Formats: sequence, structure tokens, C-alpha cells
Amino acid sequence: MKKGSNNLAGLENVAMTAINAFVKTILASTLLLLPVTERAYRLARGEIAAPQTKAARRALDLYFIDVEGGAATLIVTPAGESVLIDAGWGGFDGRDAKRIRQAMRQAGITAIDHLVVTHYHMDHYGGVADLAGLVPIKRFYDHGKMTSLTDDPQFAERYGAYQAAAKGQTITLKPGDTIPLKTAAGAPLIKLLCVASHAAVISGGGASANPACTPDAPNEDPSDNARSVALLLKFGDFEFLNLADLSWNVSKRLVCPANQIGEVDLYQVTHHGGNINNDPALLLSLRLTVAVMINGPRKGGHPQTVKWLRETPSFKALYQLHRNVQTTAEQNAPDEFIANPDEQPDEAHMIMVSVDAAKRAFTVTNGRTKESRSYQFI
Ligand SMILES: [Zn+2]
Repeated sequence: MKKGSNNLAGLENVAMTAINAFVKTILASTLLLLPVTERAYRLARGEIAAPQTKAARRALDLYFIDVEGGAATLIVTPAGESVLIDAGWGGFDGRDAKRIRQAMRQAGITAIDHLVVTHYHMDHYGGVADLAGLVPIKRFYDHGKMTSLTDDPQFAERYGAYQAAAKGQTITLKPGDTIPLKTAAGAPLIKLLCVASHAAVISGGGASANPACTPDAPNEDPSDNARSVALLLKFGDFEFLNLADLSWNVSKRLVCPANQIGEVDLYQVTHHGGNINNDPALLLSLRLTVAVMINGPRKGGHPQTVKWLRETPSFKALYQLHRNVQTTAEQNAPDEFIANPDEQPDEAHMIMVSVDAAKRAFTVTNGRTKESRSYQFI
């Protein structure tokens, strides 16, 4: 009996310990629940930034994803928001969408907050439907709805796939519009400004005549390249310019007769490095420091563009996603600045950029070699 009593007492103690633990858990949960609910409420109201999945995110990060001569540039802000500018090609068993998802994983994000389709060419928006099947995309932006496009005989089918992915909910960007981004606590102001769209350009910037301008009159370009959405990202005193495939005749209006853009630190070489873009007057006006060329092994990367970049006095470095296998070694960046030197096997290495506002510097990393170099901005 005594032994039994002891057993009962023991059971009672166990029961009491369990009850105490349960009560403590309830109390702790209640205490924790209040701030969580408050946080969710403030988050929903937009009073605080989205939770940061990557610990202590302070930098602005850019990922130039290799989509084989297409375009896919991922931006992740210090507040943890994401912007994807273009989504690569469709087809190839969802190759480009998978590469974008891989870059998102590396960046520690699970959804695209803002997707900008710069224009309706397959190398820029072909991958949207594939990507929408892999990850949530919250908002879609473009240069406006279109019913036909002479550039693309399969436009109806491809545009239909894009509109279906966006559920018809697309936002038209006009020059002067901004894509809303939260500024992280303690970080400089971040602003993503549309500077060109549907062949119209921003005005109201610089007023004085730009001495870099030349009197040449580029041909009008009837293709959708001329309607590309162009974006200027500002993070404190750091500027990144992405003109997508904007044609020379339109990009010229951005800097001539007066420079509406100002100076930029990082420049995504326009049209994959084509020589009907990236004219010397534009490059001189932008006073760019570092250029990233999103070319393929046999697409873009024109030697004249490489020459023009090198002739720009402010220019410090050109990074390429691919070596142009059709031109000479001298007509390409040095090997350490090339993410994918060989056509096969293509390992789809990225070029990554991380901007540290406190150090007033941005660091460019070659995804293949993992080598980094830093550049100051003022
Ligand atoms: Zn393109």
C-alpha cells in the first residue's frame, strides 16, 4: 500500500508538473501572442516593413541572373522586398524560371513583390508564366496593354499566357511613376523610378544643355524595344540604371538636350550589349562606374559597345554574364569579370552586387569564382 501510495503521489506529482507546464505554456503563449498580433496588424497596415527572412539584412542586393541572352534582374531591398525586372525566356523546360527561383532562394525570399515586364519580347517576358507556376508574384507592371505586335507573329499566344499569369491585373508604368518600396529602419531612402515607358521619357530633371550631346539623329525604331520600361533605382547616393532594350532614339531623349537621369554608379548594359544602343553620348552623360552586360555566348556583347564603355572616362569595370564566343579575348572583359566563360557546359553563374550605404561602396561578386571587388560611390 505504502508503495502504492508513493506511486500515486508520484503520479500526482507528475500530473501537477504537467498541469503547471501547461499553464506556463498558456501564459507564455498569451504573452507572445499579443506582440505577434500587433506586428501582423501593423504589417498589414504597411506601418512596418515585411519580415526579413535573411538575418540582419542591411544591404541592397542585386542578382543578374543568367538567362542565356535574355533578361532577369532581381533586386532585394534592405527591408526584404523584392523586385524582378524581366523573367527570361519561356520554354526549355522552365529553365529560366527555375534559375530565378534559385536566385530567390539564395537571396532568402519566397515571393516576388513586384515584377516589371519591360517589353513584350520573348527573352524578357517569355518566362513569366513558368515563374508564376513556381513562386507567388504579387504585382505585375508593364508599358501598357497591347492588342498586336508586328515584331512577333506569335504575340497573341505569348501575350495571352502573360495576361493569364497576371490574371489580367497589370499596372501600366508611365515616366515619373515610382514602384512603392519601403525604406528599412536606419537605411537610406530607397526609390525606384520609371524614367521611360512606351517610348515616352521623363522630364523635369536637368535643365542645362548637356555638352556630351552630338547632333546625330538615330533612326526611329518601330519595335517594342523602343517602348521598354526603363528604371532608375536610387538607394541613398547609389544609383542603378536599367534601360532594358531601350532603342537609341528614345534613350537619347533621356540625356539630350538636357540630362534627365544624372550620374549612375551601376549600369545594366542596354539591349544585352547591342551597338544600336549604348551610344557614347549616353555613356558619357551617365558617368557610369561599373557596367553589367546580360549577354549570351552568341547574343549581344558587341565589340563596339565594349569599346565605347572602355572609352568612357568614369568607367572602371565591365562584368559579363557570358563570354562572347564569336569575338576575341580583347573584345571581351578579362576572364575574372566573366561569369560563364564556356558555352558548354553552361553552369548559369550569376553576377551579384551588394550595396553598403554606410561604407558608400558596392561590391560585385562573380558567381563562378566567388571573387569580389568593391567600388566607391559618392
Ligand atoms: Zn532583349
